[in-house]
Amino acid sequence: MIPQYASAMLISDLHLTPSMPLTAQRFFDFCEKDASQAEAVFILGDLFEYWVGDDASSQSPFQQEVKRALANLSTKTKTYYLHGNRDFLVGPAFLKKTGMTLLPDPSMVEIAGKRYLLAHGDALCTADLGYQVFRRWVRKTWVQKLFLSLPLGWRRSIANHLRSNSHAQYQHKTKSSQPQNLMKMNVTLEACAATLRSHTGDKLIHGHTHLPAHHVEQLGEQSWQRWVLSDWDLDHPEVGNPRANTLLINDQGEHFIDLVKS
Ligand code: MN
Repeated sequence: MIPQYASAMLISDLHLTPSMPLTAQRFFDFCEKDASQAEAVFILGDLFEYWVGDDASSQSPFQQEVKRALANLSTKTKTYYLHGNRDFLVGPAFLKKTGMTLLPDPSMVEIAGKRYLLAHGDALCTADLGYQVFRRWVRKTWVQKLFLSLPLGWRRSIANHLRSNSHAQYQHKTKSSQPQNLMKMNVTLEACAATLRSHTGDKLIHGHTHLPAHHVEQLGEQSWQRWVLSDWDLDHPEVGNPRANTLLINDQGEHFIDLVKS
């Protein structure tokens, strides 16, 4: 049985961290107010900037605050969680404390009578072969067990190293004028088509690329719609426009809501 709701709100890529207090505050307000417009909330990954194990969160006042917000939210609104590429180590202990239900990536859900395939989006960026190799490794159970058995300090420095590496690569790819570098940072038509085909779907919702949009796409005989959620950043107006959106789906259809303005 796939989850079925009359209405839902979807968010992703908040990249919550103590150094982005305005973004975090918008999320707390979302949990308290906005989310009540829908029967269910789906968090499509990268809620956190990084996650090095559920045991680390008990030492972080910030993560405790997020945990309380999620726990409050899930008492009022059914809340689902899909792992992103930065917080795929969010584990059973944290999920239990917050009352969220983990969904595999991708997952089919039914909202207002229509079927949508939900994904974080990183697995669809198949032009980036290097990343896909990395992803296959870090998603192996034994690799994760090994990592989680390391002392917390080591885990934090590994995570910081990976983050600065991926930041440097991102800068390099976005500044580069070569189209193949920009292509690497987006999903491919082939991956979307194949994933939708294997789930017999024609509506896809994901985040990860930070390229919010609604697309109508086609490959050969197959056509589909694709909604991309924005990342959230209200703390760096000097770098880019403050941004945070949610996709609201109900009997009126699919609508992006700008959470910066509302
Ligand atoms: Mn991501």
